[in-house]
Amino acid sequence: MSDNALTPRQRMAIERATMPEQDAAERARNFDEVNLGLAEAAAVREAQRCLMCRNRPCVEGCPVRVRIPEFIAKVAEGDFAAAAKILRTDNALPATTGRVCPQEVQCEARCVRGRNGLPVAIGWLERFVADWSADRPPSLPAAPPTGKSVAVIGSGPGGLTAAGELARRGHAVTIFEALHAPGGVLRYGIPEFRLPKRIVDAEVAALEAMGVTIEYNVIVGKTLTLDQIRRRFDACFIANGAGLPMFLNVPGENLKGVYSANEYLTRVNLMGAWRGPESRTPVLRGRRVIVFGGGNTAMDAVRTARRLGAERVVLAYRRTDQEMPARIEEVQHARQEGIEMMFLVAPLAILGTDDGWVRAVRLQRMELGDPDASGRRRPVPIAGSEFELDADVAIVAIGTRANPLLTSTCPDLKLNKWGNIQTDARGRTSLDGVFAGGDIVRGGATVILAMGDGKEAAAAIDEYLTGANRP
Ligand code: FAD
Ligand code: SF4
Ligand code: SF4
Repeated sequence: MSDNALTPRQRMAIERATMPEQDAAERARNFDEVNLGLAEAAAVREAQRCLMCRNRPCVEGCPVRVRIPEFIAKVAEGDFAAAAKILRTDNALPATTGRVCPQEVQCEARCVRGRNGLPVAIGWLERFVADWSADRPPSLPAAPPTGKSVAVIGSGPGGLTAAGELARRGHAVTIFEALHAPGGVLRYGIPEFRLPKRIVDAEVAALEAMGVTIEYNVIVGKTLTLDQIRRRFDACFIANGAGLPMFLNVPGENLKGVYSANEYLTRVNLMGAWRGPESRTPVLRGRRVIVFGGGNTAMDAVRTARRLGAERVVLAYRRTDQEMPARIEEVQHARQEGIEMMFLVAPLAILGTDDGWVRAVRLQRMELGDPDASGRRRPVPIAGSEFELDADVAIVAIGTRANPLLTSTCPDLKLNKWGNIQTDARGRTSLDGVFAGGDIVRGGATVILAMGDGKEAAAAIDEYLTGANRP
């Protein structure tokens, strides 16, 4: 039946699609992507569940305001090219966000179908359209060159989005990236089994095709100063993330076998340590691995440890599964892969062997008390509940904060008390012509929030450079 002929009742009767995925036992031994993507027929059927609500509540839930009902309507009609044009106009990295956005608290959380059942699988449809159009990208309108130049610092999702939006408006964009490869956390943090690096490569290649230049191995604050950049360019967007890991500050944290999740994941993802002896960067492959934390980073670390061959992998989190900030799908996948989750426990110490290697951790049980500043109930230690757990690798995944490398060299750039750059709602900083967004402003947040900042700041930079208010 054609999509237009479906009544609301018929749409309501369609069950949500299921995502085909690699078998859990199989995938726990490889780094291939877990989710395999919807087939065309399943995507069309899923799109037909959408009620095309006039008030579009789902769009309100999306930080970059993807025109969700519009692109889904095209999928329902089987016109994937038209769907891609809408989606790619609104979202510079749809293959990425379709895979890693926390949809359950964003667009899908607002979907009316979720009030009485399961929401439309907006993220899976986004991924479907992005993958379908990967090798046939729609031609999007581009403005003629303006003669203005913009420097973007950092090639994570915030920087890439701003670069794309600025290039589309006719500005000459150069990205300065500290590492030797683009993508920020998409490259060095999120593992291949969640976000294959060919996706990041394709999204970056699309930007380069629009004329964006990337200079690698440039640490702004060391190789170049912000002042030098300001003299060379008409405006600047800082999106250098919040990559400085936080630690537990417990005894034993300097033992051999303790990693920050950032270091562990960077070794495996960016430097290829998963390949084993073939790789010049080693990583310890523990038999019993413990990871502290409850966010996406912790989930990526436990699942990586499992794939590197650990027999027992334990995630230790000081609250309950209800408070865990990780995406629900990652928690489900981790459980299926045999990860043990210990809730309401906090580390007291990491214990070592005589020659300085991790041998165990000492934990204490917690209970939930009154809500803290974050609104979540505060974990309170239970006296006398200490216990030890054997481990040979311990990974700390309790968050990151702003790296002062760049900001410490710019005394006039206003920061908040945590070292994040202060901006107004459009990304303007205290320095003329300097804008900022993403994790360096928000602290550790999400891919789509960084992208939303990049999009907003690009519009503000365009206005700053041209005086015009263009879409
Ligand atoms: P980043 O992605 O951090 O990119 C900053 C870039 O700037 C990096 O490439 C860095 O090398 C570069 N840089 C830093 N300093 C300098 C300098 N001085 N000069 C030049 N370049 C510099 N979010 C989700 O929405 N879903 C998820 O599933 C998810 N999973 C995550 C998993 C992990 C392991 C981690 C760590 C984070 C995850 N996040 C997730 C959070 C998300 O990735 C970040 O919020 C997002 O990447 C922030 O984007 P950004 O552009 O601000 O910075
Ligand atoms: Fe939903 Fe993220 Fe896509 Fe927006 S970008 S529609 S929040 S999946
Ligand atoms: Fe479709 Fe849900 Fe958005 Fe309504 S709220 S338009 S059903 S995706």
